[in-house]
Amino acid sequence: MAKVRYTYNEETCRYEPVVISPKVAGRKLLLFLGISFLIGVAGLIYFNSRYPLIDETLQASKNDKLKTEWKVLYKQLERTSSQLSTLEQNDDNNYRVILDLEPLAESQREAGVGGREKESESIPYPLIRTAYERAEKIKNRLDIEAQSLQQLMNELTNKEKMWASRPAIQPVSNKDLTHLHTIFGLRLHPLLGYVRPHNGLDFTAPAGSPVYATGDGRVEYAQFSTSYGNVVYIDHGYQFETRYAHLTKFIVTKGQRVKRGQVIGYVGNTGLSVSAHLHYEVLYKNNPINPINFFQRDLNNKEYEKLIEVGSMSASSLD
Ligand SMILES: [Zn+2]
Repeated sequence: MAKVRYTYNEETCRYEPVVISPKVAGRKLLLFLGISFLIGVAGLIYFNSRYPLIDETLQASKNDKLKTEWKVLYKQLERTSSQLSTLEQNDDNNYRVILDLEPLAESQREAGVGGREKESESIPYPLIRTAYERAEKIKNRLDIEAQSLQQLMNELTNKEKMWASRPAIQPVSNKDLTHLHTIFGLRLHPLLGYVRPHNGLDFTAPAGSPVYATGDGRVEYAQFSTSYGNVVYIDHGYQFETRYAHLTKFIVTKGQRVKRGQVIGYVGNTGLSVSAHLHYEVLYKNNPINPINFFQRDLNNKEYEKLIEVGSMSASSLD
């Protein structure tokens, strides 16, 4: 049975039962329900903060795993960047020095870096964006380095061709170093009877001894001349030319390509010459220069000194 509450009525001087109107009862019920709802929500928030839902727990675990993987990836990017730096330094400080090339300027190495910043701006995740930008910079540096290495390869090929082309051996066999008769410079001409520049070297050798091309090149002239006799000119490119005079005969023709060490003719005594020998010239930019400095493939320092000594003994040339 419901408990009845009484209140004292001063007008009637009596205790009378309290009558609750439906309106008041409804208001009290609403108040009760409101407070209950608020307590429920507060409890739920508290519970959720202390004990996340299973989905959230899984998501957090996935996030931790992704962060760990991102760190591994980023370390890998850093390592790649460091290896690339080593390659760039070797390129600038070693390979380019050997090939007489200037190191790449900083501005050249930085070319293209940052060109895709706008693209990365659309990535909403900061960590991913950072890694993306790092990878892009490495890729750009790698592109520049690949171009640089290609340039080095081209230069190396060119240098190899140049080194093969430059005169670098003696034009006749001279193992005992006794065959150099006359060196470069002013010498008395044996037939003309006066001193004049001797623009090459005279090597004594029996007539018929083989004469060798001293570098790779192309025969630009092979015929008889009054002063040189049978003579061969070889164009080596890079503004170098060699001449081989007073030959008994030559065995090459104009336009023919020859290799260093290839026999091009034989020692003789044709033209303005007093005995069988080879007159050998080296020209650079059409000017005769001293051939004695172009035997680096044949001679060490001691042999070089001996050759000069032997060649200096004669006061006159043989042509
Ligand atoms: Zn000579």
